[in-house]
Amino acid sequence: MNVVSEKTLRQPSAKVLGAPVDPVSMAQAISIIERFLSGSETHHIVTADSSGLYLQMHDAELAKAYELASLVTPDSIGVIWALNRQGINIKDRVSGVELVNELTELSAKKGYRVFFLGAAPGIAELAAEKMRLVHPGCNIVGARHGYFPADDDVLVASEVAALKPDILFVAMGIPRQEKFILKVKEIIGAKVSIGVGGSFDVFSGKTKRAPKFIQKIKLEWLWRVILNPKKASKVAALPKFALAVIRSKS
Ligand code: UDP
Repeated sequence: MNVVSEKTLRQPSAKVLGAPVDPVSMAQAISIIERFLSGSETHHIVTADSSGLYLQMHDAELAKAYELASLVTPDSIGVIWALNRQGINIKDRVSGVELVNELTELSAKKGYRVFFLGAAPGIAELAAEKMRLVHPGCNIVGARHGYFPADDDVLVASEVAALKPDILFVAMGIPRQEKFILKVKEIIGAKVSIGVGGSFDVFSGKTKRAPKFIQKIKLEWLWRVILNPKKASKVAALPKFALAVIRSKS
């Protein structure tokens, strides 16, 4: 089976553990996102990793976010493996980190207004500063930390909305970021809202990316676990995810 055609939006979408996943390449994802940016509706894009897909089996609100998302990209080797098992020919991840990089570059070319929401105080601002150096001219209109209670979601959304972003990156971890977007994306009104996990930690320099050869052999996740033992709970979900995929039809 071929990967999804660029001409279609999210059809045909595959399913992994009952959730939709669109087997797109980065080039296809960007082309779909550009189409969203040229329209008038708001779109939620989920970057799906194994832990999120496992979690949504037991979390109805997260499952709803997957179901209602306009695009769900394959963001881990486990997800690619699950798609490959279904005969879907896809090799590369479309990760939150790479989407932040690609879309910030696109903002520099086309002027899209970008907002960075999430991570610890100061980190989103620092990530924005670094990205302004990497992609001069990118239009990052605001940045704010992600440590606020869910009770303040609407308040924070109104603050973000005032800056009229076209693209909103939410880096508050799974499932918080997906639930936040599901709840307030219409208040914010960004054409594209994407949950991007620890991306601002990476771009601010707080988290170092693995050396290129480790990225190449697709073991960056292991590198991050070694540097951050808090990630161990995510790794613990991996065998559960694999077992669930082997047992399931999707
Ligand atoms: N974070 C946040 N608000 C919270 C909890 C976490 O902004 O209430 C941030 C945290 O500082 C980190 C990111 O969310 O920058 C989570 O990164 P991680 O790599 O753990 O994301 P995941 O693997 O869940 O996508």
